[in-house]
Amino acid sequence: MPAQTAGRVKVYVETLGCSKNWVDSETMLHHLSQNHYTLTLEPQEADALVVNTRSFLTSDTEESVQRILKLSEFKKTGHCSALVAAGCLSQRYREDLLQELPELDALLGSQDFGEIVPLLDQVRREPGKQLSLVQPKPHYQQFEDQEKQQSTPRHFAYVKIAEGCSNMCSFCNIPTLRGLLSSRSVPSIVNEIQQLVSRGVKEINLISQDTSSFGRDRGQLELTELLCSISSLEGDFWVHLFYCYPNTFTGDVLAAFAADKRFRAYLDMPFQHIEDNVLRKMDRKITRLQIEQKIQEVKRILSEVAW
Ligand code: SF4
Repeated sequence: MPAQTAGRVKVYVETLGCSKNWVDSETMLHHLSQNHYTLTLEPQEADALVVNTRSFLTSDTEESVQRILKLSEFKKTGHCSALVAAGCLSQRYREDLLQELPELDALLGSQDFGEIVPLLDQVRREPGKQLSLVQPKPHYQQFEDQEKQQSTPRHFAYVKIAEGCSNMCSFCNIPTLRGLLSSRSVPSIVNEIQQLVSRGVKEINLISQDTSSFGRDRGQLELTELLCSISSLEGDFWVHLFYCYPNTFTGDVLAAFAADKRFRAYLDMPFQHIEDNVLRKMDRKITRLQIEQKIQEVKRILSEVAW
């Protein structure tokens, strides 16, 4: 019989890949712990195992498959009766992953993380039947009210402000794996930051696939508005900005950024390349000259910036 604590099922959740995945796992952790699941850090004692996978590069795919195979051993040596792969690998190979990996009991794609409880329940109710909950065209619902269980060290947290990307660079499968840009509302993000700060979190890391384009799916760039709203919060905290696509990183954003010392002078801005021909082939929609001008503009306004 599976090991259970007072009727609760023990579940182990492992996260591979980037900070965005980390946040998705925090959504699953919240839903699991609020229901009849108890979280464990020990896969050998878990009744259910969930791997939140990566699959951007071939090496990511290989790592995800290896971890699934490794964890599947606990179906023989531990208590595990349900092994679920969530995230990018499930999304990318949704057609044949269950056939290729019979060790898996279910797939969960790159949205619907709040559905982990009914999915796991069904897997456990119907042993031997492989299940799949993967939308063919992933697009994040506005995840305004998705509660999360913080799993980072208590002084810092990731706050996902949007999901997906609409830039369609020719070499990148993120829009396929994660859908088009889908931004949260400014109030929901500010509210989350306020709650984190009131719990003692000092370092807020704003993340997404394309932070500069925040709001564009609603018709206009809203990163400046978001930064100003965060700036209006009281408190001893600081903010880092990640994944700032250069093309839509405007002077207004820089001015808002420079106006509050709690926005740390650190920028994560992927240029990918500097040669015009290659930039064109990558469909980056920017030239060497524009990149150089962007760098000068950033240095002029944020003289101590670290890249
Ligand atoms: S901006 Fe980044 S995430 Fe979006 S398509 Fe280009 S490389 Fe991929």
